[in-house]
Amino acid sequence: MSDAERPTDGGATDEFEPIQVFSEAEEMDLRPGADNCYKCSTCDTNCPVAEVDDEFPGPKFQGPEQWRLKRKDDHDVDDSVMKCSNCMRCDSACPSDVPLSQMHNTARGEYVDEQMDTFSREYVRNRILANYRRLAPLGSMFPRTTNFVMSLSATQWLGEKLLGITSEREFPSFATETFREWWEKRGGTATSRKRAREAREKRGGAQRRNDTTRIAYFHGCYSNYNTPEVAKSLVRVYEYFGYEVVVPDQHCSGTPMFANGMLDDARRSAETNVRELAAAIEEGADIVASCSSCSMSLRQEYPELFDLAGIDDVAANTWDAVEYLRVHEDLEAELEGTTVEEDLSFAYHAPCHARNQGLDGQTIELLSRIDGVEAHDVGDSCSGISGTYGWKAENYDTSMKIGAEMFEHMADANADTGLTECPTCSMQMEHGTGYEITHTLEVFDAALVGTKTEGRIQ
Ligand code: SF4
Ligand code: SF4
Repeated sequence: MSDAERPTDGGATDEFEPIQVFSEAEEMDLRPGADNCYKCSTCDTNCPVAEVDDEFPGPKFQGPEQWRLKRKDDHDVDDSVMKCSNCMRCDSACPSDVPLSQMHNTARGEYVDEQMDTFSREYVRNRILANYRRLAPLGSMFPRTTNFVMSLSATQWLGEKLLGITSEREFPSFATETFREWWEKRGGTATSRKRAREAREKRGGAQRRNDTTRIAYFHGCYSNYNTPEVAKSLVRVYEYFGYEVVVPDQHCSGTPMFANGMLDDARRSAETNVRELAAAIEEGADIVASCSSCSMSLRQEYPELFDLAGIDDVAANTWDAVEYLRVHEDLEAELEGTTVEEDLSFAYHAPCHARNQGLDGQTIELLSRIDGVEAHDVGDSCSGISGTYGWKAENYDTSMKIGAEMFEHMADANADTGLTECPTCSMQMEHGTGYEITHTLEVFDAALVGTKTEGRIQ
């Protein structure tokens, strides 16, 4: 869906009806979807991997063609499905609503379960990458030591030799205090409730557009362990608008698990997330996520792949954090005329998973309201890293080839800082250009709340 079809913040939103971003989940047998394909190849021309890797057969083959083959006989899944980066660009490009991403995820799961050697180096490496949530708590117990060890070239060399994790990239640093530690120290929901009430009184309750005063924050792994600045900014920005923030128990959204065909792991995470988030919805909260891949997962992949009680409610009530404020508050007017510490220019990359949710235009439009802020859109190409894809040694060169167009546009923008809403896109942006990267919510925090930035906005 394009931004043009979405409600804008310009008009009254009293009778705002949330738009169904994704069609209702189809039945789990995807073969009827294969019949909707009329072989136009639009998906192939939109696939960033197929564009630079001649050996990758592309989404049309991975999706409808494989499903047709499987209909005839018990055909094996082609191993090229593991070369799909799960960027999901083909999914939104298809004019015939073929459920490509659902087909790819299902085929990958089947390939891993039935054809992959679970003792192979590739399986072990993929399992480790897909389960960052299990390793991150260990790494963040002694963050300085972990960061030191992980930054050693010997560690990176070993990672490549033993596991096939590229030594070209630097591992992301763990924060010295996780978001959840900060949140507990700050007083949790009780403090947030108090601050939100004060903000509502200050702003005048009658002026609120939204009956909901509570949001449940799905922070994901990266904002908790690596970039808590993003999560803190979300809390402050939402409290500024009078929302009480609750932070439910949560596991990984599942995005890296889908991309690696680890559907059993993803299902276990989804069971916890759906249970906790559905309970928050029951208590009057809407769900917001600061990572575009997390919101994508909760909204689209969960109902496409799993059948869990409450899953449709969670999908229907989950929003991207910027989108939610754009729709439910007059965010544009609120940002109009605000300033940040000093004039700034940003090179903005819209993540593929934001693009797939129709959210690629909102950040540039909103940042233009802040005085002294200049935001350059660096184009619609894929960053190339796609979560764990670009961390695999065999994909590194392809990943950098895909990212080349974005790197070039970022260099041309000659901005102060890079900007995006996806943690792994931010790793690739930094890696390919040397820019320091920040998140849109941090800029809003600086503009609306006046929070002094923690060095990520330069
Ligand atoms: S874009 Fe859709 S209809 Fe066209 S080839 Fe791909 S799957 Fe088939
Ligand atoms: S998800 Fe991305 S990489 Fe995979 S087939 Fe579709 S467009 Fe290509």
